[in-house]
Amino acid sequence: MSHSFATASVARRILDLAAFFCIALAPSYAATNYTIVLSNPEQHLVEVQILLPEGSPQRDLQLSVWNALYQVRDFAQYVNWVRAKDRAGRALAVRELDKSRWQIAGAQAGAVIEYQIFADSPGPFGAQFNSRHAFFNLAQILMYPVDARNGPMVVRFSQIPQGWHVATPLASLPEGRFSAENYDKLVDSPVEIGDFKESDFEEGGGRYRVIVDAEPGDYDMEKLAAMLHKVVAAATGWMDDRPFDNYMFLYHFPRGPGGGGMEHAYSTAIAVNAEVLAKTPEMLASVTAHEFFHLWNVKRIRPQTLEPVDYTRENYTRALWFSEGCTSTAADFIELRSGLIDESHFEQELASGIGELERRPAHLTQSAEESSLDAWLEGNAYYRRPERSISYYNKGELLGITLDLAIREASHGQASLREVFQWMNQNYAKKGRFFPDSDGVREAAEAVSHADLGWFFAKYVAGTEEIPWNDFFRGVGLRLVEGKNTIADAGFVASRNFDGPMTVAAVTAGSEAERAGLQAGDTIMEINGKLAGQESSQEMSRLSPGDTITVKVRSRRGGGRELKWKVGSREEISYELKDMEKITAEQRARRAAWLKGDVEIPQDAH
Ligand SMILES: [Zn+2]
Repeated sequence: MSHSFATASVARRILDLAAFFCIALAPSYAATNYTIVLSNPEQHLVEVQILLPEGSPQRDLQLSVWNALYQVRDFAQYVNWVRAKDRAGRALAVRELDKSRWQIAGAQAGAVIEYQIFADSPGPFGAQFNSRHAFFNLAQILMYPVDARNGPMVVRFSQIPQGWHVATPLASLPEGRFSAENYDKLVDSPVEIGDFKESDFEEGGGRYRVIVDAEPGDYDMEKLAAMLHKVVAAATGWMDDRPFDNYMFLYHFPRGPGGGGMEHAYSTAIAVNAEVLAKTPEMLASVTAHEFFHLWNVKRIRPQTLEPVDYTRENYTRALWFSEGCTSTAADFIELRSGLIDESHFEQELASGIGELERRPAHLTQSAEESSLDAWLEGNAYYRRPERSISYYNKGELLGITLDLAIREASHGQASLREVFQWMNQNYAKKGRFFPDSDGVREAAEAVSHADLGWFFAKYVAGTEEIPWNDFFRGVGLRLVEGKNTIADAGFVASRNFDGPMTVAAVTAGSEAERAGLQAGDTIMEINGKLAGQESSQEMSRLSPGDTITVKVRSRRGGGRELKWKVGSREEISYELKDMEKITAEQRARRAAWLKGDVEIPQDAH
């Protein structure tokens, strides 16, 4: 179901638009029709034409300020110009109401709005058009008519370069058009246009398409498909549900920046840096399992606070610890069930996640709910400092693990986190309802365990009490052992926003890094001759005490410098999960069930 068109001239494009009027108005006159013109790959320019049906004379058009990431990104910064005309081609007045909203007058008989927008943000959260491909998070480039956001939408692409095809989970119409029930569903559908590779498979009655846009030597389609089979079989089996007929995996393995994964109701777009993929191939299964599980958790099992989506400002939610963090917990169980990871890998990752939380001083000052609310600050380097914030991914995943163990304990092994998800799927998702953030999770956990779990939510979800790990792990015969490691210490903390540069957040006082002249706020361009990016944390983890580190930085005033110093060392608390001295048969049975995400006693016979 892909389409290709010859490159059209400007004259041809005008004809296209004229023809488009007739086609589009006949079968779906009430729809908002978009034409996305791939006009200039070299300059990354896209032209958008919106055909509004007849209606009220004044229409407001809104471009989203955020989408995909919980960060206000003000996509309007990329809009070069906006104009409008009526059906006879006469210019209509366009008035800017605020930085992201425009008003058209005289549109009672319908109108055509046209604007040019720059698109060069790589990765699954962005919109990018260049001479290699186009990838669109449509919310980044498509304005919506405020009075018709809930009405049907039709979109087509024009001037697609020769040899390029379109891949999208959107429903396909004749003439290369695609449709969606409303704007929210339209922008929940990523679009890849280019010369990609494609594969598909069936599993348990579902049809899966796999689209890969990458260098052929950087991946193996057969291995990828084999992994996907395992992930989708394990996930749909675990949830005992498959709320779709078709699902699309869209992968990029870029040599440059732009990593991440973005969930959608019927698809996911995932980008992993090719070098990172080569060194840690197992991370692809883990990102994939996480994004796939999102089709339930967050897309269908959805917190009320994310609905309706407010495209004009932040949607504040306390639930990301669950919607993101517990999605990672579910991904762990999916990987364990499918044999993609084993017990020792799982327990090592778990212990390292505990270390990550315990080493951030902010675990005593910022709760999982507060971290969810503050997601909107994550674009700022200061906010990412260990003394300022924790990660709702990190703590949320651990809360998923401990809540699961608490439910197993309270229900004598008859319920688990899986039953929480299934309960929420039945009682919220399948009924078209949204859950009331943490209270909704608590309600589900108490319903499946028949126990009061208020203490868990008060202390660890809303509160910042230290988590007594061993109280939770005892039930499965494990104990957390604290140790000390001497680790390399380069003398600074650096972090980056999803596609931003690596920024120095803090420099240790008295360190070699400080003596070399590194300053908080500096942008790191290169570490040991390698461009700073997604793979830099691996580069840093390979350092040993005594090594020389060479860092190219640009200071806030713009000057570039190369700094060199000797890596120091420091003691760091580390954790390991070990078997308890004596493990009872009960603990053994619970461990076996836990490692499969199963309950100990089947609740019914099927
Ligand atoms: Zn996620």
